[in-house]
Amino acid sequence: MQSLQQIFPLLLQPRKVVITTHQKPDGDAMGSSLGLYHFLLQFGHAITVISPTNWASFLNWMPGTKLVLDYERQTEEADRAIDAADWIFCLDFNTLNRTKRMEEKLANAAAQRILIDHHQEPQADKFAYGESDTSKSSTCEMVFDFIMASGHENKISPAVSECLYAGVMTDTGSFRFPATSANVHRMVATLKDKGLDHGPIHEALYDNFLEARFRFLGNVLLNRMEIFYEYNTALIAIPQADLIKYNIKTGDTEGLVNYPLSIQGIKLAAIIIDRGEERKSSFRSKGGFDVNTFARKYFNGGGHFNAAGGQNKETLEEVVAKFITAMKENKDQLSNYQF
Ligand code: 5GP
Ligand code: MN
Repeated sequence: MQSLQQIFPLLLQPRKVVITTHQKPDGDAMGSSLGLYHFLLQFGHAITVISPTNWASFLNWMPGTKLVLDYERQTEEADRAIDAADWIFCLDFNTLNRTKRMEEKLANAAAQRILIDHHQEPQADKFAYGESDTSKSSTCEMVFDFIMASGHENKISPAVSECLYAGVMTDTGSFRFPATSANVHRMVATLKDKGLDHGPIHEALYDNFLEARFRFLGNVLLNRMEIFYEYNTALIAIPQADLIKYNIKTGDTEGLVNYPLSIQGIKLAAIIIDRGEERKSSFRSKGGFDVNTFARKYFNGGGHFNAAGGQNKETLEEVVAKFITAMKENKDQLSNYQF
């Protein structure tokens, strides 16, 4: 994988470009993809943004979402764009299997793949160019750094700003996680200098609940959360019947895993959701417990040190049992937590 700077001189020649990200894109995945899209568009490139799957409706305010192809629903059109592409930017993921049904197409594409990502353990041999930096708060921060280093700061339009802000804000937990560096605040300062209005972005992302989702949250906290004080751990397990009852859509469960971390003493929070086709898990930790390793070891997943996810084919009950076993195996680390 060659360094990203190598492509700076090449930006000026119009190319066919695909930008893609991980399945069920979150704010950072969609924000970095569309932020880069609005930046590259200004060089005259022909660009197609492809999401491997659908995404949460609370992202639809982002400029450009209407043009994003959903690979599962628009496979042929997306395949044509991949076949024709010179470059495929891969943002906010680093192993091709995070693109689900798109994986094979991506792996066999003739185009050069370009990585911009902040997760651990990248498949570096799959990318012609790229940057992988786990110290970065978000892929949006990395796209911002890429733009600044390319010497094209003047191309940070309002659309670029809004998309990149959304991703850096969501991936830093509204600027509180440890990865919220001085560089992050300088980035926000630069975007503010360019006229960014940040308030409406927070509202669009966080004050956009439907009543049913709020009632669902009540049900989850009351009935689906179990606390293991001995292990400083909380587990939420959601059966598929709950998702149906409260009409829960993609993205509605985003952020739920963070709630138990507000309970005094909780160091590890997990959520396991029965999505029907798979049991999707998310893990969040505070301090020294490494959920990336935990997710890799027990849940076919990965991510970051303090935020990771995975998925399993077993039943919800089996995955819950697996979690409890895994928690017990890690008792020494989990119970010796100093506050
Ligand atoms: P979330 O729990 O919000 O789905 O994901 C938390 C973090 O872990 C994100 O950075 C996400 O990209 C990563 N992640 C989630 N699921 C998986 C997975 O199955 N495999 C890997 N490698 N990373 C994941
Ligand atoms: Mn991210």
